[in-house]
Amino acid sequence: MSSWTALNDELSIWADTGRMAPFWIRDDDAVEPSPALERLISLTANGGIPATLAVIPEHTGDALATRLAATTSLSVAVHGWSHRNYAGKGEKKQELGLHRPQRDVLSELAAGLDKLRALYPDRAVTMLVPPWNRISGELVAELSTIGFSSLSVFGREKDAPIRLINTHVDLMDWHGTRGGRDDAPLLAEIVARLQTLREGKGEMGFLTHHLVHDEKAWTFLARLIETVEKHPGAAWVDPLAQ
Ligand SMILES: [Zn+2]
Repeated sequence: MSSWTALNDELSIWADTGRMAPFWIRDDDAVEPSPALERLISLTANGGIPATLAVIPEHTGDALATRLAATTSLSVAVHGWSHRNYAGKGEKKQELGLHRPQRDVLSELAAGLDKLRALYPDRAVTMLVPPWNRISGELVAELSTIGFSSLSVFGREKDAPIRLINTHVDLMDWHGTRGGRDDAPLLAEIVARLQTLREGKGEMGFLTHHLVHDEKAWTFLARLIETVEKHPGAAWVDPLAQ
């Protein structure tokens, strides 16, 4: 059985019970228009498919805002402030840790939310997407005090003092080819997430990084988007609109 057949079979279980499996795209690291961004827009927004772009506040400006103004189904979330790594040598990369005074990190995040709200009055969402999907628990506890209502990292949602809307499957092979991963493991992870969702709430969050996609990554993304679009047991959603 092909791995795409396994996905279709899982979606048919959802359809048979009158449900639609909710899929969500979070795409990270946008700062300005680019050919890769155009390709993402043509796959998503041009077909009315919702996606959330995690935009790096320090490096972005009017050019991206102008381009996104011509689309309707994309929302914009705060991707740290600078995407700078403050972790020491040998540590995993992290912007939002305790390497600096907590108040400095929080004031940058607040500035990031302010900047994106000014650039995107209609589509900035109060969601924080930490660079490298890492943030210290001490900072998470303070996010609601600076205006955030949700946090998106990678992996299964845990208990947290703020609403978690995570991604669960990562398109890219960061430690190997640095291109798109193979279909079989991607689809196995997607099906596993859908199986846990049958009993609970949440989405199948799919994490993409348009700036580094190779052809293999784009091909998978296009096929996944089409499969979800066409199947009666699945839909692309904006989790903040649920
Ligand atoms: Zn990033």
